[in-house]
Amino acid sequence: MLLTISTAYSPATDLGYLLHKHPARIQSFGLAFGQAHVFYPEARTEKCTAALLLDVDAVGLIRRPHGQFAENFALAQYVSDRPYVASSFLSVAIARVFSSALSGKCKERPELAETEIPLKVKLSILPCRGGEKLLRRLFEPLGYTVEAERHALDTRFPDWGESRYFTVTLETTCRLSELLTHLYILMPVLDDEKHYWVGDAEIEKLLKHSNDWLADHPEQESIVRRYLKHQRRLTRQALAQLREEDAQEADETVQAQEEEQVEKWIGLNEIRLATVTEVLKQCGARRVLDLGCGEGKLLRKLLAEKQFEKIVGMDVSHHALRIAQERLNYDRLTEKQKQRLCLFQGSLSYRDKRLVGYDGAAVIEVIEHLDLPRLAAFERGLFEFACPRTVVLTTPNIEYNVKFENLQAGRFRHKDHRFEWTRDEFQSWAVGVAKRFDYTVVFHPIGPEAEDVGSPTQMAVFTRGDREARTT
Ligand code: SAH
Repeated sequence: MLLTISTAYSPATDLGYLLHKHPARIQSFGLAFGQAHVFYPEARTEKCTAALLLDVDAVGLIRRPHGQFAENFALAQYVSDRPYVASSFLSVAIARVFSSALSGKCKERPELAETEIPLKVKLSILPCRGGEKLLRRLFEPLGYTVEAERHALDTRFPDWGESRYFTVTLETTCRLSELLTHLYILMPVLDDEKHYWVGDAEIEKLLKHSNDWLADHPEQESIVRRYLKHQRRLTRQALAQLREEDAQEADETVQAQEEEQVEKWIGLNEIRLATVTEVLKQCGARRVLDLGCGEGKLLRKLLAEKQFEKIVGMDVSHHALRIAQERLNYDRLTEKQKQRLCLFQGSLSYRDKRLVGYDGAAVIEVIEHLDLPRLAAFERGLFEFACPRTVVLTTPNIEYNVKFENLQAGRFRHKDHRFEWTRDEFQSWAVGVAKRFDYTVVFHPIGPEAEDVGSPTQMAVFTRGDREARTT
């Protein structure tokens, strides 16, 4: 199986920097299922081509204990096409061999990784279930010119008709990392091979490598369904995350400014973040989560405190995470600091193993962004499954809204708020949660208190009972 990537960018040999592979060398990489070789059939200033040759170990595959080909029919293992076609094996090889290029990193020439360059890709054999039509529907909306040559099932027997195998050429002008993510996701999607197991980690991979282009791709649904091997639960979850994120991003900037404007005159955000940091310090937490971390304002404060040895920021919005990463100068942190801070995309509406094993969690001005029917899933995911010893949670007190002169009567502080609670509503919810999940809870007002309506922000601090943290 051969994949070539060519460019006529000038100087074209810059492709070597982008791929982190020297044009004059042949390099080989051992993979679980065979060998990958990278070399350059041509490397001139006017044109440069890099080739990734994948040599899949067909015999090794069959002998694997749960080989994916054994179950179909008796001879399946002997007529498998896997060694000869572009499939998820090629995606794995790309992620392994071109990992920096795939994530858009180029240490020596960072500006080059950001540059859109003319690129041409050739895939020697790409299986397309759905034919040329689907191939075009997947790549053309992303700006590619597609050329496809379909192969006959067997040239000696024309009656047998066409196969599902194509030789494909794709041309476009974009950043190399974008092109690699398109291939990484869409090759297995076209192949649509269903015979191996996928789990939750696949959602993470899909969203990570498709964050900028899948949200509004016209074939979003079939891409997600096929990538996740038609598993209904995973597909539903991934689509929900994409939509949640999309809705979130659409209004994000406006919303953030809106809420900040409303609350600005009392400097509420600053008071809130300082209070939460203090609570986490006082409870002795060392490993902390900031769930729905947004653009990372709390993370910045937590980083300034030596007590916190491990700090994790999670948000459903890739966009917010990118801003957080920039504001925290993540790329310039030392390796040691990078070990201390970790940012990842995820949704509070789902259980997530990555959140287990922490002793403090902050959920600051986030729950009011969740649909009320999702709240029960959030409660179980955080208080039953992740169950940190301390949870600090804040939300607006709707009673205080009458004090904001620039907020129309009856409106929430933020367009995306699904609800805002009175003090009674919040406290009865929080007491219920504490009871159901064996926590105790105390409440504190945040911000200046006014007669009858209380403070603008309400905070609950939950402390876990004696029960051991779940680890499975
Ligand atoms: N905690 C931050 C941001 C609050 S704004 C602060 O105090 O500044 C609410 C944040 O919650 C947004 O960044 C939004 O993307 C995130 N969010 C909304 N729904 C979420 C969900 N289901 N899972 C995780 N984060 C979510």
